[in-house]
Amino acid sequence: MAKDCLFCSIVAGEVPATTVYQNADVVAFDDLNPQAPTHVLVVPRKHVPDLAELGTDPHTSAALTAGIRATAEHLGLADFRTVFNTGAGAQQTVFHVHAHVLAGREFSWPPG
Ligand code: 5GP
Ligand code: ZN
Repeated sequence: MAKDCLFCSIVAGEVPATTVYQNADVVAFDDLNPQAPTHVLVVPRKHVPDLAELGTDPHTSAALTAGIRATAEHLGLADFRTVFNTGAGAQQTVFHVHAHVLAGREFSWPPG
């Protein structure tokens, strides 16, 4: 657990969140400021700061991918958008890697 990390605190149960799915490796919870009818954040229990760092950790990478799949299946999502913001310049604001999983509305491409 990293000091002063919001998502480590959510994983530890120290900050409340609405958990929609969890397993031994990941926790998925509703985003506080949803951008779609379904907007959940899937995070590894292990602290990894961003997607670039995740790429150095094959076990956690695979666990997060499987966790996204399991979350979507659990929520009955057939189609969903997955976003990883990586770095402040790409609007990452919480530096504990997280997949945004969004569904329930029309999406455009490119995303803007
Ligand atoms: P980022 O900008 O880092 O890609 O995404 C961070 C996300 O965390 C944002 O969508 C934001 O709404 C969400 N968020 C920020 N603080 C909290 C919180 O305390 N609880 C929950 N559930 N989500 C949060
Ligand atoms: Zn963390």
